[in-house]
Amino acid sequence: HQPPMSPSHRGALGWDATGAPTPMHKRLDGKVAIVTGGARGIGEAIVRLFVKHGAKVVIADIDEAAGEALAASLGPHSVAFVRCDVSVEEDVERAVDRAVSRHGRLDVFCNNAGILGRQTRAAKSILSFDAAEFDRVLRVNALGTALGLKHAGRAMVPRRQGSIVSVASVAGVLGGLGPHAYTASKHAIVGLTKNAACELGAHGVRVNCVSPFGVATPMLINAWRQGHDADAADDADAGIGLDGAAAVPSDREVEKMEEVVRGLATLKGSTLRPRDIAEAVLFLASDDSRYVSGHNLVVDGGVTTSRNMIG
Ligand code: NAD
Repeated sequence: HQPPMSPSHRGALGWDATGAPTPMHKRLDGKVAIVTGGARGIGEAIVRLFVKHGAKVVIADIDEAAGEALAASLGPHSVAFVRCDVSVEEDVERAVDRAVSRHGRLDVFCNNAGILGRQTRAAKSILSFDAAEFDRVLRVNALGTALGLKHAGRAMVPRRQGSIVSVASVAGVLGGLGPHAYTASKHAIVGLTKNAACELGAHGVRVNCVSPFGVATPMLINAWRQGHDADAADDADAGIGLDGAAAVPSDREVEKMEEVVRGLATLKGSTLRPRDIAEAVLFLASDDSRYVSGHNLVVDGGVTTSRNMIG
């Protein structure tokens, strides 16, 4: 869904008529990237865009079926899958080792894997949240990101180059947008980005994050389903696909979700899609942003700039 361009603009902007990048603008040509949570949703869009831009990609995800299928569809020459739970250090280390042993280097690491956590009323209240659930969300989102920074950093520092891009959220900037554990974990990612950028910048490694607003992925559709039926969510204790494992959103649900997001955005006439988040990640991953580090790039259609954001 690139904007229409005149033929004379296409070359200059690096896109051909189908929206694919022109060869001289393959912005990750010859680079090696790992994308955590790359099997579906925003991560899948990142994987697809990285491949279009010439990268070799390793998908690191807990969903073996979806991850293997995506890797196979994009071609074994370009994409490999490794089973990796980002909250388990050995898994993250193995994913990095796999990329380095396969391709001899690691240029880009995208910490995208994340979970929203339980959506029950009890789980969402600071007065009644469950400590074990809080810990579970923090382990995946915050510790998982820190482990990605650690092991990607270890592979990149000796070569004195590399770019690490984490996916935070507008819930990492503002309150009132998600369960407490999720908000805490996303603020943690923004903080980790700044801290790690200070340390790794001394070794030529850049660290940034991207903060999306609502994108109609299985994660958000699941949360929305449960939000619309809080009683059912309470009764079932969010048994309806807690982190979206089994949820495949219908086209109708995606359309409705996109409508809600469009209503909140101050930027009108457009719809936030996974590809938009992937484009922001690509910019920070590529040398186009070679002097950008410690930055949180918010991709929200202007939502966080408006005092009317919550209806
Ligand atoms: P999703 O649930 O659709 O996809 C998440 C992917 O991460 C899945 O492939 C899943 O298998 C994988 N995953 C989950 N836990 C994992 C773990 N422990 N280790 C490895 N992989 C794991 O979610 P999404 O909407 O595509 O979200 C991707 C990222 O974007 C998350 O960090 C999320 O918090 C963030 N985000 C999403 C939105 C949104 O509206 N969808 C908004 C802001 C931020």
